[in-house]
Amino acid sequence: MNCSKGGLARPRRFFGNAALPDMKNKPAPLLNPATHKPMTAEELAPVFCDELIAQELNTTDAYIDIPEEIQDFYKMYRPSPLIRAYFLEKALDTPAKIYYKFEGNNTSGSHKLNSAIAQAYYAKKQGLKGVTTETGAGQWGTALSMACSYFGLDCKVYMVKVSYEQKPFRREVMRTYGAQVTPSPSMTTEIGKKILAEHPGTTGSLGCAISEAVEVATSTEGYRYVLGSVLNQVLLHQSVIGLETKTALDKLGVKPDIIIGCAGGGSNLGGLIAPFMGEKLRGEADYRIIAVEPASCPSFTRGKFAYDFCDTGMVCPLAKMYTLGSGFIPSANHAGGLRYHGMSSTLSQLYHDGLMEATSVEQTSVFEAAEQFARVEGILPAPESSHAIRVAIDEALKCKETGEEKTIVFGLTGTGYFDMVAYEKFNDGKMTDYIPTDEELAKSLAGLPVVEE
Ligand SMILES: *Cc1c(COP(=O)(O)O)cnc(C)c1O
Repeated sequence: MNCSKGGLARPRRFFGNAALPDMKNKPAPLLNPATHKPMTAEELAPVFCDELIAQELNTTDAYIDIPEEIQDFYKMYRPSPLIRAYFLEKALDTPAKIYYKFEGNNTSGSHKLNSAIAQAYYAKKQGLKGVTTETGAGQWGTALSMACSYFGLDCKVYMVKVSYEQKPFRREVMRTYGAQVTPSPSMTTEIGKKILAEHPGTTGSLGCAISEAVEVATSTEGYRYVLGSVLNQVLLHQSVIGLETKTALDKLGVKPDIIIGCAGGGSNLGGLIAPFMGEKLRGEADYRIIAVEPASCPSFTRGKFAYDFCDTGMVCPLAKMYTLGSGFIPSANHAGGLRYHGMSSTLSQLYHDGLMEATSVEQTSVFEAAEQFARVEGILPAPESSHAIRVAIDEALKCKETGEEKTIVFGLTGTGYFDMVAYEKFNDGKMTDYIPTDEELAKSLAGLPVVEE
């Protein structure tokens, strides 16, 4: 085993996502949108890669071996650093000990590469020509482009139009790695044409882009669709984050009290907490686990726990999750990523069962935390990651009041170099907060499918 970097170990096995094998109440299965029956592997096969379907439906194996080819790739940037935030602790004058696991140490700039390389590997192994996907802020598309170029796969990315226009540099990184990038909604798919006819001038959403990517995958020979978050398989691959964190903390003899992660679709958080949640579920240890989401897209804190469509075009399977409704489109004013309407069904079930907490934060306070962190710790954080920084700082400040020496671990999922338009807004004092009204949420939630359970 390669244990070189900082004495940390890289895992050789993925760990059942968010401790799925230890969950008494398993997440509800994906349902066929037409029949409302659980999706079978055969039904999923036209959309997803075979091995990934097997992983998706596997709720019992605690460990799954990481193939050598994926481990070889991980050697380029893993184990990722687990850093004690001494300077932040000092700046906050807190007795709390703060650690962060930094996943921005690769060209894609985020944790998404962990799953992208696994998914590309399984697609290649199946003999496919290529994969399609959507990307919002662009990190997933970038990670997948890198992974596909490594394994010689074609990569078609549907990029939410507003990001395509606002983040030309992300787009060019993807094209440099050989991906074909199309702004979504587009005229290249039936669903894109339909959405454009109904909402001319729309700047797009992740839900629309997913529908387009799925349509292209299912109608093109030798292609499958891959997704960068939400699904069990993605949380499974991201378990490398938590396994490395656990190994490193164990070596240091440190037991965290609070574990914090930002939550868009739930993959980095699910990965970070996997081994800790496993211990918690088995009654071996207890941790406070906090998911942090934007107040402008509050799936956990204001959504409904129900079956919903994963995409706007309603072609994907139904998932039971905390959701704002598949028609929910976050305000254009929302700069910080984490804009998906739903949430991992595994994390949703854990949250529903009271095994983790969730909180929402407003974007100006997120960028204040980002700025404070950048100035003392040196890393320019992604806006998404800065949601976790916000709450880590708040918890550390509470410790200052009470004098408690708690240990806080948070996931620093990526760097913010491609988010400078958002930073510019913040620096110019032009960033505002938008919180959807109850009426707006009620309207999108009214579109939930009626599913008998
Ligand atoms: C995509 C992304 C997230 C959110 O996605 P999850 O699936 O919830 O982890 C968070 N941080 C960064 C940097 C991202 O790219």
